[in-house]
Amino acid sequence: MLTYHKPKIPDACPICNVLLRSLDLEVYNRVSICADCEMHFLQRFKPLWDEGWRPNPRQIEERLKERTKEPFFFVHL
Ligand SMILES: [Zn+2]
Repeated sequence: MLTYHKPKIPDACPICNVLLRSLDLEVYNRVSICADCEMHFLQRFKPLWDEGWRPNPRQIEERLKERTKEPFFFVHL
């Protein structure tokens, strides 16, 4: 009998809601967001982030628009 264990990693990033890819998992384990959010939000706004700041929906939407222009966006590694 198979038992389904719910993984503790979600399907999508809690910040940008983009599906997590294999390359995001290591980042997620560290900071609970995807690699792109780490690069573009956490690292860029590190002091604010450490105080609990999170990007607002407009900032996330703008970042997602940028990401769709990038050639790697839909590539599965
Ligand atoms: Zn994200």
